[in-house]
Amino acid sequence: MTIADNLQEISRQIQASCERAGRAPDEVRLVAVSKKKPAADIDQAAAAGQRLFGESYVQEFSDKFALVREPVDWHFIGALQSNKVKHLQGKVALIHSVDRLSLAKEINRQWGKHEAIADILLQVNLAAEESKAGATAAELVELAHQVATLPYIRIRGLMCLPPFFPDPEQVRPYFRQLRELINQLRMLDLPRAELTELSMGMSHDYQVAIEEGATLIRVGTAIFGART
Ligand SMILES: *Cc1c(COP(=O)(O)O)cnc(C)c1O
Repeated sequence: MTIADNLQEISRQIQASCERAGRAPDEVRLVAVSKKKPAADIDQAAAAGQRLFGESYVQEFSDKFALVREPVDWHFIGALQSNKVKHLQGKVALIHSVDRLSLAKEINRQWGKHEAIADILLQVNLAAEESKAGATAAELVELAHQVATLPYIRIRGLMCLPPFFPDPEQVRPYFRQLRELINQLRMLDLPRAELTELSMGMSHDYQVAIEEGATLIRVGTAIFGART
């Protein structure tokens, strides 16, 4: 299976999931997660029609940003240290992984220098796992209120990385919970917020995520193969 074959298969699965859920396929955007894959793979996917790519490591992203030849759009989806934020400004359309106020403040500062607004998602740690970043559901409202005071930030939605289960059906309650949380945030009327995005679902569970309302699915392995 080539990258183009994989993309075509995923596109079919997205359509099928949308049909099951009564959603329009254009409500779901595929973020091709290209971390640890070479720029040539990204160009290959782009040549097959994939436009949007997600990266997790700032240094690796910066290197590949310079190498990729096709016109593509980038999202940053990984753990982010504040001192590296400056390398993303002007290069990424959305940061999925804002998990703390200090990080949001630095994004605000870097984008503000350019009078630009940063689109971000708040990352939620639904199962309050020690090993994972993100605000717990209990902390989310407070974080959202604080981040929404920053003038160069626009909160666009929520992202989660739920616990892994071999059976994707077991992840469904977490996806559902993220959807309920975004509905709660919508009622807060946060300044500038446009809460339209739910970033959830990866290679093994994106179909369930779409059924539960995902608007951005982050798929790596199913497109590019296993990472070594
Ligand atoms: C690596 C990664 C993905 C993609 O995972 P796959 O299982 O390869 O599809 C999605 N989201 C985040 C945050 C990741 O780090």
